[in-house]
Amino acid sequence: MKKSINIEKEIRLRFPPSPTGPLHIGNARTILFNYLFAKKYGGKAVLRIEDTDKERSELKFVNEIIDELKWLGINWDEGPDIGGDFGPYKQSQRLDIYKEYLEKLLIQKNAYHCFCSPEDLEAKRQDQQSRGLAPKYDGTCRNLSDKIVENNLAQQKKSVIRFHIENKKIKFKDLVRGEVEFDMGLVGDIVIAKNFMEPLYNFAVVVDDFLMKISHVVRGEDHISNTPKQIMLQEALGFNDLIYAHLPLLLNSDKSKMSKRAGDVSVSDYHKNGYLPEALINFMVLLGWNPGTEKDIFTLDQLIKEFSIEKVQKSGAVFNLQKLDYLNGYYIREKSLSSLTKLCLPYLSGFDTDKFSAKNLEKIIEAYKTRMKKLSDIAELTGFFFEDKLVYDKKMLAWKEMGDREVIVSLETAVKVLSSAKVWDKKNLEDLLVSQAEKFNDKNRGYFLWPLRVALSGKDSSASPFEIAEILGQEKTLLRIQDAIASLT
Ligand code: GLU
Repeated sequence: MKKSINIEKEIRLRFPPSPTGPLHIGNARTILFNYLFAKKYGGKAVLRIEDTDKERSELKFVNEIIDELKWLGINWDEGPDIGGDFGPYKQSQRLDIYKEYLEKLLIQKNAYHCFCSPEDLEAKRQDQQSRGLAPKYDGTCRNLSDKIVENNLAQQKKSVIRFHIENKKIKFKDLVRGEVEFDMGLVGDIVIAKNFMEPLYNFAVVVDDFLMKISHVVRGEDHISNTPKQIMLQEALGFNDLIYAHLPLLLNSDKSKMSKRAGDVSVSDYHKNGYLPEALINFMVLLGWNPGTEKDIFTLDQLIKEFSIEKVQKSGAVFNLQKLDYLNGYYIREKSLSSLTKLCLPYLSGFDTDKFSAKNLEKIIEAYKTRMKKLSDIAELTGFFFEDKLVYDKKMLAWKEMGDREVIVSLETAVKVLSSAKVWDKKNLEDLLVSQAEKFNDKNRGYFLWPLRVALSGKDSSASPFEIAEILGQEKTLLRIQDAIASLT
């Protein structure tokens, strides 16, 4: 049984990143699903920076998250950078608001000051564990008299604010998982604020989701156990219901849970390594959603039309880097040559790219476009074009069992053929060189074309010698072949 999407009320979704690190690909996926949901139903998206953790939140991460979302092509209707009717949109600027609601919960006796020390709590936890019980707060401070509380507060005894979790079952309908039920008898009273000015996550989001008129909460399944706590807080504060959708967990290829802190998992890492935003969007949406057909290429615009939350899977979504490379290769090949060249240039900053005209730089990119998995591959693939002198590996210059002498003869023949070339373009060079290759050794062109290609590129795998020669121009081409010959003598 699934709860209907309920598109009668205004659709408002939230992007709630915590700026305690770079934008994690899992969080970016969640934001993408929120974005698609909002767009599909003509709703609004709100960017809310969840920076209540003062020690771990940093402004540089706020800026980085905003930049990376923009780079991905995801935008929002309200947020700290653009304002809106329900701001401020940074939790650190909403402390007075939270204080009001904390006071309300305390007055209503839904929340209370707890003076248990960390040492007491740890001792209780160990005791419960030794008796085979699941650890939970035992409610020691729940029924302290007003007088004791006042006295303790007056003496500035260290305390936190806890919310009373009633012993009951909480059921909610999730757009992905159907009906979900939690037995709250297993959960102890939760800390909702360290003090009036330091609210914690579960409490702050409940207040914000209400005041920002959020209608749907789409988030990772790692938050599913927070949902019943948040529902209880909503009930205590008289807030309306929200509709939830919990997205499947991200799994490594060995099906282990993908840790937030593991290596290359931030959007900015992928960005720097030369993945295109189109590829990342396409990749992320397939982490939990598919249209039920063979189709796997989707642009953001197509997704806005085709996405539906009902098609989100419940089972974990395996993070498959080969799929990302495949998609990136696809979007690289889709780029026009001039825009792909512009995108590649920063990755060639270690080389003197001024050695080539704009036209020839485009030719270099064209020759390698299909070999690139990511933009950063371009340096390794094409760096040899920009070198003044290549370093040759004698063995590499030889095709099969050719000896040095034969390689030299082969390369000297190439010099002769190429010196007399009248038209220097790849078509004509190919005609000349292939007919020479056939004369040279009609069984196998490799005896002629292999040493030449290695002489021009210094590599055992590269574009064809005709393409490389055209781009290098006659003079450099002949020089490189002479250098290769010299390396053998
Ligand atoms: N700031 C929380 C996070 O980044 C948001 C969780 C939620 O969607 O409620 O995990």
